[in-house]
Amino acid sequence: MSKFLQKVLSVTHWTDNLFSFQIERPKDFKFKSGEFVMIGLPDSEKPVLRAYSICSPNWDEKLEFYSIIVENGPLTSKLKNIKINDEIILMSKSTGTLILDALKPGKRLFLFSTGTGFAPFSSIIRDPETYDKFEQIIVTHTCRYKNELKYSEKIINECFDDEILKSFTNNKLIYYKTTTQDISEFNGRITNKIQDESFYNDLKLTDLNSLYDCVMICGSLNFNNELKKLLVDKGFEEGATNKPNTFVLEKAFVG
Ligand SMILES: Cc1cc2nc3c(=O)[nH]c(=O)nc-3n(C[C@H](O)[C@H](O)[C@H](O)COP(=O)(O)OP(=O)(O)OC[C@H]3O[C@@H](n4cnc5c(N)ncnc54)[C@H](O)[C@@H]3O)c2cc1C
Repeated sequence: MSKFLQKVLSVTHWTDNLFSFQIERPKDFKFKSGEFVMIGLPDSEKPVLRAYSICSPNWDEKLEFYSIIVENGPLTSKLKNIKINDEIILMSKSTGTLILDALKPGKRLFLFSTGTGFAPFSSIIRDPETYDKFEQIIVTHTCRYKNELKYSEKIINECFDDEILKSFTNNKLIYYKTTTQDISEFNGRITNKIQDESFYNDLKLTDLNSLYDCVMICGSLNFNNELKKLLVDKGFEEGATNKPNTFVLEKAFVG
């Protein structure tokens, strides 16, 4: 598969182990909002490549990624040191299951994420097609600590403040953030909050309903499995591009 070598345009460290960075987008690099791509550092003959969700919407001229720093992680222990003008390997083909084409048309789209699992949703909530297809988009982000929500808060602020973005997000996009360790406005795991109904009560929403709702999930394997079971019990069915249905899910990492 062909690859590109792209310059780093900016780097922002959000916490000791979370950062985001932007790279130049090759003119002929196409992707669907919500997809991931393999990236790496050109630091050896056999570079370590890892899957990264693209945070940018597909109309953006730059490509943004949001990354964890894993202690002694083969890629991220080096990637954490990148600076402006450094080069990143970008494989030419993006892929993934968190795409609008894999979902049937519906009224509400729920995007449930934990940790860096917010990354693909950062792309989807800034894509006008999402708002053409759904009347309301509810994006949730759960982390252990409040400072781990800084990246999603910044993206959401952009959705509501940017003149172009707000023309389609206004009155349609809802953001719900919860923490499991720090005390904050909303506490607890989203799966518990769906089950005890506090999620619906906090947002004044009616319950998830497979007749008119669609769902995307991106988090740890346990989180994905727990939420999948909850949805299947409510009559939701997993979709794919060749057979769109009411939910899709993807792991935010392997481990
Ligand atoms: C489809 C897909 C999309 C991904 N998108 C992203 C993304 O947008 N941002 C991102 O930071 N990572 C993402 N990852 C994970 C990424 O591919 C790497 O695992 C991560 O960058 C760490 O690389 P590493 O070589 O340093 O350590 P690895 O050897 O890859 O990972 C070591 C261990 O660290 C843990 N870990 C890895 N990634 C994470 C994570 N994101 N959150 C919590 N624990 C983790 C796991 O337990 C894993 O076994 C994605 C993975 C998949 C499968």
